[in-house]
Amino acid sequence: MADIVIIGAGTAGLSAAIYALRAGKSVIIFEQLAYGGQIINTPEVENYPGIKSISGFDFAQGLYEQAVALGAELKFEQVTGIEDGAVKKVKTSGGEYECGAIILATGAKNRPLGLDREQELIGSGISYCATCDGAFFKGRAVAVNGGGNTALEDALFLSNYCSKVYLIHRRDEFRGEAKQVEKLKTKENIEFVLNSTITELVGDDELSGVKVLDKVSGESRLIEVDGLFIAIGQMPENAAFAPLITLDGAGYIVAGEDCKTNVEGIFAAGDCRTKTVRQLTTAAADGAVAALAACAYID
Ligand code: NAP
Repeated sequence: MADIVIIGAGTAGLSAAIYALRAGKSVIIFEQLAYGGQIINTPEVENYPGIKSISGFDFAQGLYEQAVALGAELKFEQVTGIEDGAVKKVKTSGGEYECGAIILATGAKNRPLGLDREQELIGSGISYCATCDGAFFKGRAVAVNGGGNTALEDALFLSNYCSKVYLIHRRDEFRGEAKQVEKLKTKENIEFVLNSTITELVGDDELSGVKVLDKVSGESRLIEVDGLFIAIGQMPENAAFAPLITLDGAGYIVAGEDCKTNVEGIFAAGDCRTKTVRQLTTAAADGAVAALAACAYID
């Protein structure tokens, strides 16, 4: 029995743990993979207030160490369902746990392009994480697909290793920060391929290129690359809670700035909930709001 169970050990979940523990509550955090969440894939964070520059990995490690030092218990178990009641239940791959309140902080996972052979070529040229896999492509040509901050950061990061980086985006304007776009323009080995979509992955056992359709000219061309980094956003993973918790059409947990879901005592924090701005700062802020609301609910 814990006062509060937190599902997900990303920025929102770990921030919630820090606030709940400092309020004197016992906390169990469940995580199915590694702690840290999506930010561990970001080479450099430059927009977290008070920290001029830090790697995503170091940021996540700091959060984790802070939560553990305060007494957080982290269990690497997959949550398969939750139940409401005077005492709430959390079912996992390792058993069943009881608690007073639950904070859902499940974040989101990488969105696939949905092309033929995409899954098969993961690890053989296709990657969703430039910081994890970029070094494998040292001195080689790669492409990044996407126009958000992740794609921009990936392209910049890869330009330090790779001979050539094609940044392929479906529109002629980027969704990511203008400052970052300006940085990319100064790199001689980055080429923007705009108004373009990838229509085919080329190569037998290993990726050797991508076919790209220019939506303005209608022309198709082959770009020879050894690697493709797909950075086209995230999808939530909340199906396990769907019987109890209201989700929107895209699968995000319906919750406002107070982080309250449709069930009393169950809160949603960070990228997994309905919101317009998904940033480190808003994830951390949600963690604080959800934790204090959970403490108030228990008391
Ligand atoms: P994102 O901002 O949602 O951008 C996704 C990009 O992929 C968009 O440019 C989108 O194109 C494109 N896209 C979506 N579906 C596509 C498809 N099927 N085919 C081709 N292109 C597709 O995702 P993100 O870059 O992963 O960022 C997620 C959130 O994290 C954002 O809020 C971002 O600001 C934040 N983030 C922050 C930092 C940081 O603070 N340092 C770092 C990384 C990410 P359109 O633009 O045409 O829709």
